[in-house]
Amino acid sequence: MRILITGGAGFIGSHLCDRLLADGHTVIAMDNLITGNTDNIAHLAGHPRFSFILQDVTNYIYLEGALDAVLHFASPASPVDYLSYPIQTLKVGALGTHKALGLAKAKNARFLLASTSEVYGDPLVHPQVEDYWGNVNPIGPRGVYDEAKRFAEAMTMAYQRYHSLETRIVRIFNTYGPRMRINDGRVVPNFIFQALHGQPLTVYGDGGQTRSFCYVSDLVEGLVRLLHSEEPEPVNIGNPTEMTILQFAEAINRLTGNQAGIIHEPLPVDDPKQRRPDISKARRVLAGWSPAVPLEQGLAATVADFSKRLGLA
Ligand code: UDP
Repeated sequence: MRILITGGAGFIGSHLCDRLLADGHTVIAMDNLITGNTDNIAHLAGHPRFSFILQDVTNYIYLEGALDAVLHFASPASPVDYLSYPIQTLKVGALGTHKALGLAKAKNARFLLASTSEVYGDPLVHPQVEDYWGNVNPIGPRGVYDEAKRFAEAMTMAYQRYHSLETRIVRIFNTYGPRMRINDGRVVPNFIFQALHGQPLTVYGDGGQTRSFCYVSDLVEGLVRLLHSEEPEPVNIGNPTEMTILQFAEAINRLTGNQAGIIHEPLPVDDPKQRRPDISKARRVLAGWSPAVPLEQGLAATVADFSKRLGLA
């Protein structure tokens, strides 16, 4: 297949490039590099089936030749980034999704939308199942991401229903692994950076809020299966092992031998109190897919990657 990945120089996008090239496909990565980085794809330079296009996908996308799939992964994805780039976040979820869908339609290509657990907002149903409609504050600081992704899902379903486009929607839950931007402000990079520098970990609020962390290779396996599946409606992909942020901080300090403990900082506005994917649907429609990498193993690989990039290894 010849596949376009928007956001291809990002954390998840670049891992997808690697996987799809390894599967024998031809991959075009497109990115405007506001939160992506060419370091993530530098090892692919010169690969005969890989190319990179520097472009903001909120503008018209012109691409020569046939295309079999469009994977729309371009977007800022960290709460700190939505605060820095609120308009770009809204634009890439809305206008960027429209452009990517238009390209898929013109090429008669299959379309995969990277959606998010944020469509559930601060969820009142736990764990989150795909038919829960969510509890989102449209005008809060996270609304720029949540509402853009909700719009993106609506737009994708409209192209499926009105234009008969083959579309897939994944709702990605918290994912971590090598290549996460060190200063992206999310909990995994923050805690690992702090631990590697012998600093106390900054737990926001009392740390009783929960998350469930999925290692990137498990996510990518699910994404590839979804792309090739026949499931037209959204599918959650994530790891259902839920823990409090306090427990997560303790795990990072234990793993890195950091003696500096934790400190508490204010909880961000609209921070979801609990999050865990119900992955029954994914198991059913993705040929028995389920996450395989335990947290300790995934964190060890992530810490090793951060140490190397920080020049500490
Ligand atoms: N968090 C924290 N300390 C940090 C960064 C984040 O306690 O230095 C918390 C944050 O308040 C949230 C959870 O960790 O409850 C996950 O935050 P993240 O920014 O990774 O993404 P989210 O899951 O909220 O989209």
